[in-house]
Amino acid sequence: MNYEDFYRQSIEQPEQFWAEQARLIHWDTPPQQILDQSNPPFRRWFVGGTTNLCYNAVDRHLSERADQLALVAISGETDVVREFSYRQLHREVNVFAAVLQSLDVGKGDRVVIYLPNIAEAVFAMLACARIGAIHSVVFGGFAAHNLALRIDDAQPKLLIAADAGMRGGQVIAYKPLVDAALSEASAPPPHVLMIDRGLDSQMKYQAGRDLDYAQLRQTHEDASVAVTWLESNEPSYLLYTSGTTGKPKGVQRDVGGYAVAMALSIRRVFDIAPGQVMFSTSDVGWAVGHSYNVYGPLIGGATSLLYEGLPTRPDPGIWWQLCERYGVHTMFSSPTAIRVLKKQDESWLRKYDLSKLKWLFLAGEPLDEPTAQWITDVLGVPVIDNYWQTETGWPAITLMPGLDLKTVKFGSPGLPAPGYRMKVIDESNGMEVAAGVKGVLVFQPPLPPGCLSTVWRNDERFLHSYFSHFKELLYSSLDWAIRDEDGYTFILGRTDDVINVAGHRLGTREIEESVASHPAVAEAAVVGIRDELKGQVPIVFATLRRKAGDDTTAVAQAMQQRVVDQLGGVARPARVYVVNALPKTRSGKLLRRSLQALAEHRDPGDLSTLDDPDALDDIRRALERDPDRGG
Ligand code: ATP
Ligand code: MG
Repeated sequence: MNYEDFYRQSIEQPEQFWAEQARLIHWDTPPQQILDQSNPPFRRWFVGGTTNLCYNAVDRHLSERADQLALVAISGETDVVREFSYRQLHREVNVFAAVLQSLDVGKGDRVVIYLPNIAEAVFAMLACARIGAIHSVVFGGFAAHNLALRIDDAQPKLLIAADAGMRGGQVIAYKPLVDAALSEASAPPPHVLMIDRGLDSQMKYQAGRDLDYAQLRQTHEDASVAVTWLESNEPSYLLYTSGTTGKPKGVQRDVGGYAVAMALSIRRVFDIAPGQVMFSTSDVGWAVGHSYNVYGPLIGGATSLLYEGLPTRPDPGIWWQLCERYGVHTMFSSPTAIRVLKKQDESWLRKYDLSKLKWLFLAGEPLDEPTAQWITDVLGVPVIDNYWQTETGWPAITLMPGLDLKTVKFGSPGLPAPGYRMKVIDESNGMEVAAGVKGVLVFQPPLPPGCLSTVWRNDERFLHSYFSHFKELLYSSLDWAIRDEDGYTFILGRTDDVINVAGHRLGTREIEESVASHPAVAEAAVVGIRDELKGQVPIVFATLRRKAGDDTTAVAQAMQQRVVDQLGGVARPARVYVVNALPKTRSGKLLRRSLQALAEHRDPGDLSTLDDPDALDDIRRALERDPDRGG
């Protein structure tokens, strides 16, 4: 079937369309009603159907692919590779589920998982799903305060943590962070289940509270734990948004709708058939990790690669080496990671046999054209930009090579995914804008299966955060977009990232694209800062590609000239700062608000999600050193 017909059916006959898709998964009791939208914008998919995420991801495959690899967990840090067939995964998940039950964790209880990208994170998630417990994975890089906030919101019965993670060869002890978070939290769980990787010899247990998983595992080695069937709309897991724009929201996912969205998207978007290999470089702590390291590929009967570490360790060829070794069919990463690799020698990408690799998917932030072009050229496979949010759980705007590959247009994630009633509307009057005109990207309810059901224990916040922006009941993505004549959508940045220069509203993304088109530039961040005359002016922070001998002043001037040539004099950056690194959150998103605050000599705000604190010092130095460069 072609994309147009597939999409049209999902919008015009949603019940028929989703009833058909529901057959992709196993139901213990089939759904009685496909869609209940009696209380919009809330909606319930597959009402009355009972199913289980763990059963669909693991048990269901035992008859046909028990000995096929299900999970390969590779650490570029500890240099350990662990492979699990579906049979072995089934075993590990049963043992883990038995351990959870022995700690009195059952249906509806929350379990916070604070682990690095190791196999146990996957076992723990699936074990929770098996017994109907609600997991909430907190990215292992988050500091104690972030963990405490999430614990207090989720109120878990159990916290699962590791002794340590590793990054760039450095051991990062987790246990002291766990202890600090638990003393800060007002609702600490009674137990902490520790996965001891042997990385932190100093680790101390608190008697009575902290338990060692390896020990408990022995007691339950032969355990078999029955699947708890859940009604389709019961909560499966919570996942907090990255917090780029404020206090993180506890995105709540259902069971049946999510399972169906995973089964559909792994096949039709990511082109993964049973037995094929998917390599997502995400951390399990992010939405991509949940959907395309764990549930998507496993529900689809594929092999999933999980990677701990940087793309450059032990060397910048490591990801491509893994692609060759495991015959990866689809790879999924982020623009940030590709820009890191772009700074390295290209020969690392050409060293390995990538003949099995069919697609590279990139998501999480805008994919600038030069980066897209560069990676397409060196890999020689189509690069599929796809747009989504933690809230959506799967791509909302993408091409669907597993169905019918449309032309890739650089700079655009493409076309709406099935079930997404997408519109681009005028911020002031809520009317749809014409092709080529910028507006706010919104989705008309009902949101398709897989998207959030609500904000955890906070329907009010769900309504207020997403549905209160326009007169009509619409889900606001809070991102700017523009649609071209062919219906391709271009994301222009967040609605709070607009620079107002003498009454002209400029998107940060447009200026960044223009600056980054200079061949010496690796990455650029644009923010607006106060200006007495014009209200605001754009300034640029840029990192350069690793090439000796560039005259940075000349490059800075050339960047300004490009913006003038491409976007006009009004967009001309007042200053350009060449720096070594840009401040990013742990999920790889640019912290524009902090950059802006620093440039305006204000407090940069909560930096606890910052990936590399040195980046800010670097920015501070640049601001002091050269206040008027190019001005
Ligand atoms: P919070 O909502 O807590 O501030 P966040 O929005 O950074 O955090 P995520 O859900 O991880 O948390 O990020 C989703 C956002 O990432 C999107 O709204 C969009 O701004 C950006 N994004 C994701 N994919 C793309 C893409 N392909 N192109 C452009 N932007 C993207
Ligand atoms: Mg968001």
